[in-house]
Amino acid sequence: MSIQSLKELREKCLACRACPLGGQEIEPKCFSNVFSNMNVVVRIMVVGQNPGRDEVKQGEPFVGASGKFFNEAIKNIIHLERSSFYISNVLRCFSPGNRPPTSQELEACRPILDDEIRILKPELVIALGRVAFERLTGMSGIMRHHGEVIVSPRYLIPVIPLLHPSPLNTNDTAKREMFHEGLRKVGEFLCTIGK
Ligand code: URA
Repeated sequence: MSIQSLKELREKCLACRACPLGGQEIEPKCFSNVFSNMNVVVRIMVVGQNPGRDEVKQGEPFVGASGKFFNEAIKNIIHLERSSFYISNVLRCFSPGNRPPTSQELEACRPILDDEIRILKPELVIALGRVAFERLTGMSGIMRHHGEVIVSPRYLIPVIPLLHPSPLNTNDTAKREMFHEGLRKVGEFLCTIGK
């Protein structure tokens, strides 16, 4: 894994204008493109949908409400910290009103994910939410496959899909329990690869 290559990919991502979402000023001097947490020392990857306003302001994925829920859950359920993960998204830009990405936007963003996975060579990818799950596995039906280990046909690496930890999910006790159960499966998988 080359840190230099990831730094170059980050620069490319921040300068990307491959779709109309790129380079929009969302808050004064804060632009829509957000790459990753650049935690290049680990090869357990978490991939979400796309950054929200908090992420744009701080220039890092999952630092808002969803990120707080995720941090708490990994700490309580599998006793890990955020620093145990490399975190990014399938779409790197804020979308107006946080609407779901379009297929054109996702396609335009695909080369960044492809390059990132090629460089990082993750041992596991945790796909947070339907959009990430579909992009990483080419499959649908996240509820049916929740917590399963699926080898991505495109990337040839194990992917475990979990619900998106948005505040909507966190207010729903059944979904919250499902998320925790999925995280336990992640913990078991990490044990099998000696992490
Ligand atoms: N939701 C996501 O999918 N990604 C983020 O970075 C933040 C919230």
